[in-house]
Amino acid sequence: MTAKLIKGTVLREEILEEIKTEVARIRAEYGVVPGLVTILVGSNAASLSYVTLKIKTAHRLGFKEVQENQPETISEEALLDLIAKYNRDDSIHGILIQLPLPKHIDEKKVLNAIDPDKDVDGFHPVNVGRLMIGGDEVKFPSCTPAGIQEMIIRAGVEICGAEVVVVGRSNIVGKPIANMLLQKGEGANATVTVVHTRTRDLASHCRRADILIVAAGVPGLVKPEWIKPGACVIDVGVNRVGERISEKTGRKIAILKGDVDFEEARKVAGFITPVPGGVGPMTITMLMKNTLNSLKFRVASG
Ligand code: NAD
Repeated sequence: MTAKLIKGTVLREEILEEIKTEVARIRAEYGVVPGLVTILVGSNAASLSYVTLKIKTAHRLGFKEVQENQPETISEEALLDLIAKYNRDDSIHGILIQLPLPKHIDEKKVLNAIDPDKDVDGFHPVNVGRLMIGGDEVKFPSCTPAGIQEMIIRAGVEICGAEVVVVGRSNIVGKPIANMLLQKGEGANATVTVVHTRTRDLASHCRRADILIVAAGVPGLVKPEWIKPGACVIDVGVNRVGERISEKTGRKIAILKGDVDFEEARKVAGFITPVPGGVGPMTITMLMKNTLNSLKFRVASG
């Protein structure tokens, strides 16, 4: 068997087109567009490139986008004031703080200052609570788990009643995706097991999985013999395992590997996500979807 590839790069284009169409419809009907502000503190190159990609994507979709680049020396108070300003701004529906923040700023305090109804990253405790309750309560599911769920659904893999095993229990991937898939509702209703560093006999749990989601950050952790034949394998891991010279640009680029031994696993699995080009492109895509939904909630509430 050779597994069918679930490509995030392809799904991203599909979903972004859907969002673009919806933005145009809302603009024509109500005269408003989604507004997204990204707040970057300092000049970390990786953070700047993430923020730029988010802003470019928002621009492509017809959003109003605002990029707030603040110096490394900004005080916590001034940053909180800036968030308060965008909390009050009715043309802004999503506020993003690019992490990490400088050491003199309390990250938790800053993230918790965002209006939960503009927290399109879904990290505010209110949104984490809403996700736990499920159903109509959910406003902004965190983006990587939302992308994973979308990939499984769009691949046509049955989630209802499936044995799902999630490797990893982080707040940004493992715990939220486990929560989302066990909810009562469409694209969920799974029987979910979460395994982690203290789990006894990881392999035996993985072998039971109809859907195996791996977010451990350990290259090649999951061996092909841990995979149930025909299973859907979602590899969230992004691990830098070396560098190579790009033939196109002559520059050094990172060699990335997932948490699953891809070449061998694809001979056993029914569906599998590649790394790179799998889950990665889905995160910003779902961020855009959350921002669009934020505007829709506003329009619906008058
Ligand atoms: P994390 O370090 O916060 O959590 C890793 C989890 O895996 C922990 O709960 C730990 O208990 C578990 N774990 C680690 N080693 C294990 C082992 N040997 N056996 C069993 N469990 C083990 O990581 P994270 O933030 O959840 O990210 C996980 C991976 O996913 C990383 O490679 C990260 O780069 C990647 N990631 C990708 C995206 C994306 O593609 N958009 C987003 C987030 C994270």
